Amino acid sequence: MTTKQAPNTLQKMGLDSPMALALHLPSRYEDETELCTIEESLMQGRFGSTQTQGRVIRNQVLFRPRRQLLVTIEDDTASLQLRFLNFYPSQQKQMAVGAHVRVRGDVREGFQGPEMVHPTVKAVTPDAPLTTSLTPVYPASAGISQLVIRKAVAQALRDPSLRDSLAEFLPTKLMAELLPSHDWPNLQSAITYLHQPPADADTQALLERTHPAWRRVQFEELLAQQISLKRAHAIRRERHAPSFKKANEGNGLEAGLLKVLPFQLTSAQARVWEEISNDLSKSFPMNRLLQGDVGSGKTVVAALAAARVMDHGYQAAVMAPTEILAEQHYLKMKEWFEPLGVQVAWLSGSLKVKEKKLAQEIIESGQAQLIIGTHALIQENVSFAKLGLAVIDEQHRFGVRQRLEIQQRVGSELFYCHQLMMSATPIPRTLAMTYYADLDVSVIDELPPGRKPIATKVVKASRRDEVINGLQSWLSKGLQAYWVCPLIEESEALQLQTAVESFEQLTQALPEFKVGLVHGRLKADEKAAVMAAFKANQIQLLVATTVIEVGVDVPNAALMVIEHAERFGYAQIHQLRGRVGRGSADSVCILMYAEPLSMAAKERLQTLRETSDGFVIAERDLSLRGPGELLGAKQSGDAMLRFVDLQRDAWLIELAQQAAERLLVNHADIVERHLERWLGSRAEFLKA
Ligand code: ADP
Ligand code: MG
Repeated sequence: MTTKQAPNTLQKMGLDSPMALALHLPSRYEDETELCTIEESLMQGRFGSTQTQGRVIRNQVLFRPRRQLLVTIEDDTASLQLRFLNFYPSQQKQMAVGAHVRVRGDVREGFQGPEMVHPTVKAVTPDAPLTTSLTPVYPASAGISQLVIRKAVAQALRDPSLRDSLAEFLPTKLMAELLPSHDWPNLQSAITYLHQPPADADTQALLERTHPAWRRVQFEELLAQQISLKRAHAIRRERHAPSFKKANEGNGLEAGLLKVLPFQLTSAQARVWEEISNDLSKSFPMNRLLQGDVGSGKTVVAALAAARVMDHGYQAAVMAPTEILAEQHYLKMKEWFEPLGVQVAWLSGSLKVKEKKLAQEIIESGQAQLIIGTHALIQENVSFAKLGLAVIDEQHRFGVRQRLEIQQRVGSELFYCHQLMMSATPIPRTLAMTYYADLDVSVIDELPPGRKPIATKVVKASRRDEVINGLQSWLSKGLQAYWVCPLIEESEALQLQTAVESFEQLTQALPEFKVGLVHGRLKADEKAAVMAAFKANQIQLLVATTVIEVGVDVPNAALMVIEHAERFGYAQIHQLRGRVGRGSADSVCILMYAEPLSMAAKERLQTLRETSDGFVIAERDLSLRGPGELLGAKQSGDAMLRFVDLQRDAWLIELAQQAAERLLVNHADIVERHLERWLGSRAEFLKA
């Protein structure tokens, strides 16, 4: 790199090679290909920025109302004031009286007539030529100027090595067959075009990223992604995992569990269990996502898988993203399995050193057959005696790297454990196709019988007293309830304070009932004590921050009040709401909101009132937030897709898939080069 100005900042942005710079594509453009007279600029500049030029006739620093630089320029037609609220001495000098400058910006009506605030300024001679291409504006981090990036990119584009890096190697025949009518430029031309589009380019298409030059880049990027996902798929099939076939006699844990369950599997549960059972019987590792709305009964399916594995003398582990959720699993699994003679171990970061050591010992010795815990299962350097299955609940909350991928050597063979991911966040098909090409998906699309739909009401915060009265009569019926206080991201202390205030107010308002409080600052055992008391109905009303978001299972609690519901996202409310509606009582969720409501919040609350269908909600959510957050892909997939928008470019996915298939079959050498070009070291990510 020869960009001496700011090598560190460029490098920090990952722009450390000609190729990286070439692929740092503009987010928009400015049109500096035209020049107006000042008079024209005064007219047109109110509708968007214009470029004009003139001679400086005044240059003055004012100190009131604050320090600022005022410069006036004029040409034969008119004069224009420029105002700078922050400025450097060098700018003052650049715009000294008598200098000739070219400026670009919006014109607005100031106190002393029309002006440009913080225009871009270039000192040029009046007849200096205009650029012939649009000026790119690059994504940049703080502390680096567009000028520096522009220079670095322009230099990179002239770098001889780029001809190789951007060489066309997709077979013409393949492209012609897949895209018979495409007018896409080759990669090198596409990239050059995007950095330096001619003055007459279709700026709308460039901005919306639907221009053929963009299409070419997006296609290549998707192709790399599809190839690596398919590859991961093939690699997995070549790995070995112990095969756990269904036992013939019905005296194992699997049969035992089915016998002690107080209910029959729903047909959806039976179907997904069949799919999982089939995976487990294979001699390569399962990689399956079990999707099912909150309350659809995923836990028992995971338990069956664990039972199968334990029946073959292997260990099973269940990992959940929060302490409370993990503990719910622990209690449930103990209840089911201990009577059948299984030793269940618990491991979380909050255990005392001695307890942790003990847990690690029985996991390592194999004495513990079923292990439940939090991230601690990965973080604490646990070694399993013989792990056959890892279940990961709410998998999207973990990073891709935080999988329990255990390899074990038996003789000369390397074994991997089977993996079952579970999620209550349904993933739309296009996403599944791109992010999860190597993930098999099972869906529980039916709730256990007897569930009553949850009636959701949207209520103004000013009716809080009414809500509390309603709560009173609800609790009088012997039922329990949740009161959820909002997450305050800026301040945990503030969040705690509001929770404590609500707790105190409710304790006072409902003297005949026991009110409990649970929040993120409590120690694990304190939290557990409150949750246990709630479960045992020693506490009737549980005031909570969102720590109860997932997994809590108290069927008698069928009313939930959510304060400041307007601050929650779709998924959060959907998950929270899933805590009620688990028993046989009519369930109610009250969404209290404070005004003013933004349009988005209004629409969100309305949707949530109208539907409790997780798929509908996930689709709405997706259109608002984009896939990264929904999938927890911040750490994974989105690192791969810089230029593709899965919604806008969905149609490209299928093409890329077909191309990937054909390349993998016929052009192994191209596959390698293509991956290297697009992913480099990031290719590793995809194997997870
Ligand atoms: P989730 O899919 O949200 O994890 P859970 O596994 O916690 O749901 O199940 C929710 C509740 O439904 C639990 O109380 C569980 O015991 C119960 N349940 C699960 N399957 C059935 C079934 N087939 N019939 C009746 N109740 C069931
Ligand atoms: Mg669950």
